[in-house]
Amino acid sequence: MHGLRRVPENLSGRGDKVMEDKYDVVVVGAGPAGSTAAYSAAKNGARVLMVDRRRELGVPVQCGEAIAEDILNELGIKPDRRWAVNRTNAVKIVSPSGIEIRISEKKVTGKVGYVLNRKVFDKFLAVRAVKAGAEAMIGSYVNGLVFKNGRIGGIRGVGLDGKFEVAADVVIAADGVGSRVARWAGLNTALRFDDIETCAQFQMVGVDFESLSMLEFYLGSRISPGGYAWVFPKGDDLANVGLGVLGSRAERRPIEYLRDFVSRMPGLSKGKIVEVNVGGVPVCGPIEETVGDSLMVVGDAARQVNPLTGGGIDSAMRAGTIAGEVAAKAVEEGDTSKERLKEYERRWKEAMGKRLTRYLKAKEILLGLSDGELDKLAEVLRGVKFDRISLTDMLKVLVKANPKLLWKLRGLL
Ligand SMILES: Cc1cc2nc3c(=O)[nH]c(=O)nc-3n(C[C@H](O)[C@H](O)[C@H](O)COP(=O)(O)OP(=O)(O)OC[C@H]3O[C@@H](n4cnc5c(N)ncnc54)[C@H](O)[C@@H]3O)c2cc1C
Repeated sequence: MHGLRRVPENLSGRGDKVMEDKYDVVVVGAGPAGSTAAYSAAKNGARVLMVDRRRELGVPVQCGEAIAEDILNELGIKPDRRWAVNRTNAVKIVSPSGIEIRISEKKVTGKVGYVLNRKVFDKFLAVRAVKAGAEAMIGSYVNGLVFKNGRIGGIRGVGLDGKFEVAADVVIAADGVGSRVARWAGLNTALRFDDIETCAQFQMVGVDFESLSMLEFYLGSRISPGGYAWVFPKGDDLANVGLGVLGSRAERRPIEYLRDFVSRMPGLSKGKIVEVNVGGVPVCGPIEETVGDSLMVVGDAARQVNPLTGGGIDSAMRAGTIAGEVAAKAVEEGDTSKERLKEYERRWKEAMGKRLTRYLKAKEILLGLSDGELDKLAEVLRGVKFDRISLTDMLKVLVKANPKLLWKLRGLL
């Protein structure tokens, strides 16, 4: 035991047990990445502490809440109506001039999805981690790393009862888009102006949309410069309506674009706003290095977000699962060096590295297209019957119709 300060009993969330002050693994952040990492590390036998500054996990919501079903299948998580509130199997993409492309998933290929209630889902993932044996310290802000002989040896912060320090063999940085843990450890997580999509979202009631099972996406520099607007149905007349913009292209705040978007859509403008969410999504592709001695970085902190769609829940959970497992094994073997932890980096890259790179390229190509060019692409795709939601299928149709595009789209096919 080389703990520095005993954590008071009432922070443990388990009144009958005094929290230990030395853990095998400390996870900073209890979003999808952190809770999944904590679960996986605990399942693999590690003593785990998960720390989050929020007093209520998942709140405020900073998410459109759409998720593909495949990640749940992959991790053996059964969808529960309490958090998987609406099932989706179709997508509508609307071009700047209003040309609609519809894709419905005919086969069950894993692209069926859900609109979540993140307030319940994030809590569910945290409870799952605690049930697997992890401790949770909620309402506790981590404000620094503890170094021992020049190497990461734990974290320090401020909790409900004041300052605390906890020793750990491995620290997992799952502290989201504004991550500071990785930076404290010397990793480069700097985001440039164009690396981040700034988003605003209304949860609206009393709205009309085409179908409860359809996710709607709207493109165009007037609607959402450098991004897109979305309508994700959550219930009969309830939907998340939001958009993201790139700072370098937007002339106004995202919420102003969102108000305009809503006012131009008759099915939405008659609705009432019952929640306002804002947040940033890193759309630059993953950071170069996601491990250091006694350190791993997961989820938005590692920028493991799909740069085209801004969806990051699935990659956060995938990376968290791998990180937790590798951390537990490394601690058991008594080797938490960067070299040993590289297994995490190798495995998450195998699982999703190529896909994220491809989506980054696709995003860059799309950003280079004018509204007129987007309309032309939509014209080509409009009549085609797609029976699965696949970027590759769309690209193949585009290149067939317009071989000149092959040069622009090279590397994506
Ligand atoms: C408007 C918007 C819409 C989005 N829509 C979608 C969508 O529809 N589908 C999708 O898949 N993704 C979506 N995303 C992205 C998605 O929300 C993230 O990719 C996902 O939440 C990443 O999970 P995470 O665990 O890495 O980070 P987070 O969910 O951000 O969790 C990080 C946690 O770390 C905690 N934390 C941070 N710093 C500290 C600290 N110093 N001390 C203690 N705790 C700390 C925070 O309180 C938080 O709980 C959206 C994002 C935004 C902003």
